[in-house]
Amino acid sequence: MCKQGHDHSHKEGIFGPRTELYFAALSGLLLLIGFLLETLLYSRANMSLGFYLLSYFFGGYFTLKEAIHEISKGRFEIDFLMLVAAIGAAFLDKWAEGSLLLFLFSLGHALEHHAMGKARKSIAALTDLTPKTAFLKKKKNTVEVPIANLKKGDIIIVHPNSKIAADGYIIKGNSSIDQSSITGESIPVDKMALTERPPEMENDHQIPEEHRVFSGTINGNNLLEVWVTKVAADSTLSRLATMVQEAQRQKSPTQLLTDGFQRYYVPFVILLVVLLNFGFLVVDESWGASFYRSMAVLVAASPCALAISTPSAVLSGIARAARSGVLIKGGRPLEDLGGLTAVAFDKTGTLTEGKPKLTDVVPLGSTEKERLLKIVVAVEGLSDHPLAKAVVRDGKKMLSLTDIPPAENLEAVQGKGVKANLDGRSIIIGNLKIHEEDRRVSDIIKEQVAQLEHEGKTTMLVQEGKDFIGILGLMDVPRAAAKPTLQRLERLGIKKMIMLTGDNQNVADAVAREIGSIEARGSLLPEEKVAAVKELMVRESKIAMVGDGVNDAPAMAHSTVGIAMGAAGSDVALETADIALMADKLDTLPFAIGLSRKAKAIVRQNLWISLGMVALLIPATILNWANIGVAVIFHEGSTLLVVLNALRLLGYKKEG
Ligand code: ADP
Ligand code: MG
Repeated sequence: MCKQGHDHSHKEGIFGPRTELYFAALSGLLLLIGFLLETLLYSRANMSLGFYLLSYFFGGYFTLKEAIHEISKGRFEIDFLMLVAAIGAAFLDKWAEGSLLLFLFSLGHALEHHAMGKARKSIAALTDLTPKTAFLKKKKNTVEVPIANLKKGDIIIVHPNSKIAADGYIIKGNSSIDQSSITGESIPVDKMALTERPPEMENDHQIPEEHRVFSGTINGNNLLEVWVTKVAADSTLSRLATMVQEAQRQKSPTQLLTDGFQRYYVPFVILLVVLLNFGFLVVDESWGASFYRSMAVLVAASPCALAISTPSAVLSGIARAARSGVLIKGGRPLEDLGGLTAVAFDKTGTLTEGKPKLTDVVPLGSTEKERLLKIVVAVEGLSDHPLAKAVVRDGKKMLSLTDIPPAENLEAVQGKGVKANLDGRSIIIGNLKIHEEDRRVSDIIKEQVAQLEHEGKTTMLVQEGKDFIGILGLMDVPRAAAKPTLQRLERLGIKKMIMLTGDNQNVADAVAREIGSIEARGSLLPEEKVAAVKELMVRESKIAMVGDGVNDAPAMAHSTVGIAMGAAGSDVALETADIALMADKLDTLPFAIGLSRKAKAIVRQNLWISLGMVALLIPATILNWANIGVAVIFHEGSTLLVVLNALRLLGYKKEG
């Protein structure tokens, strides 16, 4: 009977967007004058009737407009029913009550729109963060152009302390950039120019964070030149805003439940109201009295508060989360998040920094260290795995000569390593699994590998043709935030936390020892990660998988909620996850869980308020304890209360 997604574009009038509110106020004022004239001057004369009529006009104007709009679409909703009740009251010569009904109903609507508009605005504010124009660098000069005209490959000038107009990477200058509009993190991030873009960075997401900038973020004190990589409509910020907007339309489980309830409830109410019109046949009263009662019941029973109770909380919750850099894609993940009992984490880049350093280079047999490094750098240069990048970066530093031979035919073996050709010989780099696919690795080598792994190092064995030519050891450190975050999650009641990694068990154990409260499962292939998530789903009711969204996407898809970290830099993560933590910060996770629980609690309170009110008002109106006036006061009052209660989420504090 009540609508949820109010489209109030047609609600604007001569006084601007607040016309509805002013009309409601006028209606109330006219009602008051009419009422005073009637009671004080005992004049039942036309004068007070005149004021009531005017009050009807201002109170009923938007209601009538809305009702006509609905009826033209074949829907009979609350506005129509309220008009019926008001006309019925007038028909019974109860003008004061009729105008009270229209006054309060229009006031309630106006306030509700105003309140919901507040939450909507905080979402719309996201898109307003992008500047309208950019300074495009031409050959001789710079010109100011609308951002819609920017193309990939353009160079824009960003002045100090101004907003960056496009996604791209810095090619000149360095600066501290406030990325809070996207990540929610207000501490500025240092960024610097990428002077020469290496050919292996084919895709934009391969460009390191320290060079990339996002539209809508704020430049620090230095002038920058930015190479544009995305057109305005594809920018991270505009996609984020679109996703948040779409998210609030996704119905949550509770909303589906209340919608289902209303499907039975509304016909029941209509039947009840019709039957009550025949009350005069049963009790000794006039038809007018029966009709009046049925109108009062109609007002009392309209489930407006119920209809708005969940959507308003979901809207506020999503808006609040977005402000702290947490994208929650709909009511379902918002509700699920609070009920999690277990969380699975990816190791690399999630619990650890994801910035491994090459610490050990051990040549085997007669191989020289220099040659081993050259081969490894050449092959890994073709891979965009984080481990490969680290090897290339650090390996190049260790090399005295820089003539790297070209490798070709790279084949990545998920969770195991890579294969490629170099000067006609086959090169295999990876963990023991990739080498043991077709041959045995000697115990002496295994011993050496195990030695490094016990120190918590990720190892790679390098094979050239038939020979093992070396072992590499890499060290990745746990994030500083990992330990405190896991402790907070534990305090929030997350009983089970596990780490799923393709890395060796010894390394996984070493990380787990350091951060505590987590069970480590190593040497998992991507499909084994999925199996581990599925297995956990059986034992725990609701689990989350936290990862980078790139090679963890399948495991995320199989969990109750897939959570991606550092989504600002990765399009894939932004698209695939149910929840995207825009900043590369683990500690937004407990915040999101806390917010979700608060949202759930508010939804529960709202259901009690709305259903409780209906349960009280229906008998009260049937038994004539409450007239139309009282019914409409409580009806509108509970609707407003529910919306205001939901808006409390906008002010949810990060800690505690
Ligand atoms: P994680 O679960 O930590 O994200 P992956 O599944 O991506 O790890 O990789 C698992 C293991 O496969 C790595 O620990 C490494 O031993 C091996 N590996 C993957 N890619 C490469 C590569 N490019 N070079 C060498 N080894 C690799
Ligand atoms: Mg990974």
